[in-house]
Amino acid sequence: MPGVPESADDRTSAGTAVVAGGGMAGLAAAYRLGRLGWRVTVLEKESDTGGRCRTVNTGGYIFDTGAQYCRDSFDSFLKTAIELGIGETFRMPGAPQGIYNSGRVIEFLPRNARSVARLLSATSGSGHLVAFLRSLGACMALLAHYRSFNIRFPGWWERGDAVTAASLLADGAPESFRDALAEPLALCAFGAELDRTSAAGLMAAVRLALADRTVSFTTGVGSLAGAMARRVEIRTGIEVTGVMVDNGRASGVTSRSVATGEVGEHAADLVVCSLPAPLALGVCPELGGAAREAAAAAVYTPGVVVNLAYPEGASGTAGPVLLPRSEGFRASWVSTNAGKADEYAPGGASVVTVVFTGREAEALMQGGDTGLVDLAVCEAERVYRLGGDPAASRVDRHEFGMPVVSTGHAARVRALAGHGSGTSNLLLAGDWTSSPTLEGAIMSGFHAADTGVAQV
Ligand SMILES: Cc1cc2nc3c(=O)[nH]c(=O)nc-3n(C[C@H](O)[C@H](O)[C@H](O)COP(=O)(O)OP(=O)(O)OC[C@H]3O[C@@H](n4cnc5c(N)ncnc54)[C@H](O)[C@@H]3O)c2cc1C
Repeated sequence: MPGVPESADDRTSAGTAVVAGGGMAGLAAAYRLGRLGWRVTVLEKESDTGGRCRTVNTGGYIFDTGAQYCRDSFDSFLKTAIELGIGETFRMPGAPQGIYNSGRVIEFLPRNARSVARLLSATSGSGHLVAFLRSLGACMALLAHYRSFNIRFPGWWERGDAVTAASLLADGAPESFRDALAEPLALCAFGAELDRTSAAGLMAAVRLALADRTVSFTTGVGSLAGAMARRVEIRTGIEVTGVMVDNGRASGVTSRSVATGEVGEHAADLVVCSLPAPLALGVCPELGGAAREAAAAAVYTPGVVVNLAYPEGASGTAGPVLLPRSEGFRASWVSTNAGKADEYAPGGASVVTVVFTGREAEALMQGGDTGLVDLAVCEAERVYRLGGDPAASRVDRHEFGMPVVSTGHAARVRALAGHGSGTSNLLLAGDWTSSPTLEGAIMSGFHAADTGVAQV
């Protein structure tokens, strides 16, 4: 493709950079630096890149092992996919989304006023209409300030950043609204319950579910990570163990081979650390005050993803279908390939994905694969009419699943954006430095690359 270097060898180097971590944020930073003429190496601990956004092909079935969807508001994500030549594989499923309520699925289409109104009245109960309208009024005030999680516009976050969603809704919102709609939205979008999510986080969840349409690729959401990875130099199976700092400047990183234990040093003019906050704290010894505080305050909830391959088609609402705890579900949401791109499964067959987040995921993290698959099958069978056992399955556990959008999140992001890591040529990236989404991860990688180049 014109203008995009195919490999590190094709270009004249403007400088050398090393990126710790080959998830979406690290790959975005490396891809951007490469386009700016830098010679970049990504060091990734696992045997494959993508981190929490990886897609695998199992016997012809496509499984997203972490992130499931991008949204049509994810500008950086979508533009980068087009730039990398995979835009024509986008799909915006026509199938509705849904929420399980009183033993049935209520369907809705984002941005469709009638279907969203139907959803709201069905999940809040007509008897509670006045109280519901009051809580919606409070939400609307926040929504007026909300555009997106965006480190360029942190001011819009001020108000909802200071209180939890639970305390916002405690004043007048009916219990049915909290249990049937607000909590499932927060658990789906950001992986945490209302008492841990900020009010601004809830507003973002409302917007993601009701206003943003689902977008996927025929080849899975991990396609973008794969497309970026093909444009940069990557060394997998290499764990970064520390950032070397001399006289207040980063001079590279130290590493260890996962397979052999062999240690190494990688000198560089610029270092980008794109690891989840607790891991970044471990490898960056000299983070400045704002960065250290932001990293230490980042709270993660785990996520468990169970993919099931069925030789027959699932019937019913394609998804994502939110599953409220008040209905007895342990999973947070389910979806099928028809709610992403039909191509995820061979013709006539289906992929069902069951995702556990929040405190349930904490309880399930240590469980064995067989028990988790059995639990996922039970949850899926309540929503989709499926007979028999799946033909194949896969369980993925993410210890650092989602950085919770807790109170003070926006203030921490703002402080990080202003002060950086405290070391001019050590840049931090990752979803915890912006928003806990694929868009946030990509934007943070681009931001790190641009800031690093300007500062070195
Ligand atoms: C279950 C689940 C569902 C989700 N669903 C969605 C969704 O539908 N839409 C959405 O937008 N977002 C979703 N997300 C969030 C999204 O996946 C993340 O925001 C995004 O993938 C984070 O990318 P990252 O690069 O910041 O971090 P990561 O993907 O965690 O990347 C960090 C990388 O660093 C590597 N690493 C760790 N330690 C070291 C080391 N010492 N040395 C070298 N490498 C190291 C890791 O192996 C990993 O590859 C979901 C997350 C989960 C868990």
